[in-house]
Amino acid sequence: MMSPARSPSAEADRLTALRSYEVLDTSSEDVFDNLVALAARLTASPIALVSLVDAERIWFKARHGLDVEEIRRGSHVFCAHTILDPTRPLVVEDATADVRFQASPLVTGAPDIRAYLGVPLVGPEGHAFGSLCVIDRVPRQYDAETIDTIRTLARAVVVNLELRRALLRAREAALTDPLTGLPNRRATMAALADAAASGPLVVIALDLDHFKEVNDGEGHAAGDALLQAAACRLREAVRPCDMVGRIGGDEFVVLLVGVTDRDVVAGIAQRVSDALHRPVEYETRLLRLGATLGIAAVPADAMEPEVVMRIADEALVRAKRDGRGRVGYASREDATQLLRTAAIVRAFDADAAASDLLQGATVYLQPIVALGRAPVAVPRIVAVEALARWSHPAVGTIPPGDLFAAIGPERAAHLGRVIRERALAAFVTFRGAGMADARVALNLSAGEVCRADIALHVAEQVERAGLSLRCVEVEITEEALLDRVSKRTLDQLAALRGRGARLVLDDFGTGTSGLAQLLRLPLDGVKLDKQFIQRLGVDARADEIVRASVSLAHGLGLQVVAEGIETEQQAAALRALGCDAAQGFLFARPMPPDVLKGWLQDRVLGNTPGVLVLRPRSASAAG
Ligand code: C2E
Ligand code: CA
Ligand code: CA
Repeated sequence: MMSPARSPSAEADRLTALRSYEVLDTSSEDVFDNLVALAARLTASPIALVSLVDAERIWFKARHGLDVEEIRRGSHVFCAHTILDPTRPLVVEDATADVRFQASPLVTGAPDIRAYLGVPLVGPEGHAFGSLCVIDRVPRQYDAETIDTIRTLARAVVVNLELRRALLRAREAALTDPLTGLPNRRATMAALADAAASGPLVVIALDLDHFKEVNDGEGHAAGDALLQAAACRLREAVRPCDMVGRIGGDEFVVLLVGVTDRDVVAGIAQRVSDALHRPVEYETRLLRLGATLGIAAVPADAMEPEVVMRIADEALVRAKRDGRGRVGYASREDATQLLRTAAIVRAFDADAAASDLLQGATVYLQPIVALGRAPVAVPRIVAVEALARWSHPAVGTIPPGDLFAAIGPERAAHLGRVIRERALAAFVTFRGAGMADARVALNLSAGEVCRADIALHVAEQVERAGLSLRCVEVEITEEALLDRVSKRTLDQLAALRGRGARLVLDDFGTGTSGLAQLLRLPLDGVKLDKQFIQRLGVDARADEIVRASVSLAHGLGLQVVAEGIETEQQAAALRALGCDAAQGFLFARPMPPDVLKGWLQDRVLGNTPGVLVLRPRSASAAG
């Protein structure tokens, strides 16, 4: 019955086993509370405990009938004895008659222990780290069945501790990069969120240079060795309280907490950079290592971790542009810009969540007029272009160009759909006003043109509005066509044209392959960008570009619309160059549909049905 003396090393192993459960000083958990309650009930004992024997104390993970969280570990303590022999329970039928315990304060005073039955809690490594015990205040005998009950419940306690440990390990594994042992992207972003919420912080985003070459050229094992070496050196280059994480293939992040001084930051960055510029020994070779760093200082007011990361990434991108191996700092403008973008996206999402039709979105319509050949000709409206307007109380009104750039393709598609819906609904009401010949021009963003069946969706929207495709012009930018537009989408766009829609290439001349686009899609016209128009008469090259564009387009049987006409001189120059139609503040600004309606009524000359004629001079005063 007496157990062997325990060696200090066995005790150390035992404590290691206990600590591996990470259970000491945790709050109560139902499963253990229920097990002690059950132990007390099944054995009719007033007290039942799950006790864990720490170096200096006995800590109770669960207790029934006892109000103490822990007691000092001493020779008079029952559970300290129970663990001495992992193979059998400790049974004390009358403590006052047991020399080991009769002088124990637990017997001579509260809780007045008289009888004790404890089963050691033994883990798979064979260490007894605690006990499940029942205690009585009167002497009693424990029969075999009672002992067996406690043994079974003790096993249940161990199983649940094991399970708990396995879950902790799994959670840890889900947050750790297995190759380097560093926190992975998820853990890093979570740490970044915590750190950003609690004070100023510096984020270093870094990419290894030439990693792909090593990985491809020397093999993946060499690549792994490079990553592991980089991880080690990063860890060594910063303080233990700083965090290093691996967030992608060869991408790492360092979070410096509580550092604000720019010189200190520069010093640390240099140390990190130096550490990553020494070659790595691998087998018999030396592998080349290098890194580019992007640094963002984050102010104390909490920022979303994604935004912080993007600011650091922006600095990294710029550093790379200047040449690999450098250290780049986020500029105030970058940070401001990215914060603004994030605010726009947040506001847009709030709007989209509140209503599918985006409360803050409205459509403005801007007339496009025929220029006519002779200078005396009065313009006639050939189309109205639908232009998105969006505002939100949190960010105000955002110019559509900035908006489309900020929100990304998915949201752009949503906004595009809503704007078309509003434009078509408004346009229906104009037909009665005598614009039978005019079309409504709809813009397709780059993100949308990449989508399968976008042309079918547009056709569907037009039909749902009760309009024919003959009332519609679709404007696609050169840049949008450049993106991976599928053959199927091109075919569908061509089919739209077959059903009466006009297809126009927008921002002609600003993309990188405008001329090539002319061959990809059957078109009806091109729109000359306002940057050319606005330099007409100022820069001889602009005149030449416009002249050549008109001649090229006409040679291909395409109409030319000029955009951004603000002066009579520009209009005259375009007329002289043979441009077919024009759009600009000189004729009309973009207007909300009801304003445009009144504006049109004011300007109808005579009562020629089907033709709206503008008074050229007074028109420019509108909007
Ligand atoms: P865009 O398609 O080239 O539209 C023409 C832009 O030129 C409009 O800017 C219009 O207001 C502006 N504009 C027209 N006349 C003049 C002028 O005389 N002077 C000057 N300075 N500007 C003039 P806006 O409305 O700010 O739109 C900017 C861009 O945003 C558009 O360029 C288009 O690319 C995009 N966008 C606007 N609405 C939509 C939409 O509903 N869908 C899509 N996909 N893109 C849109
Ligand atoms: Ca356009
Ligand atoms: Ca344009």
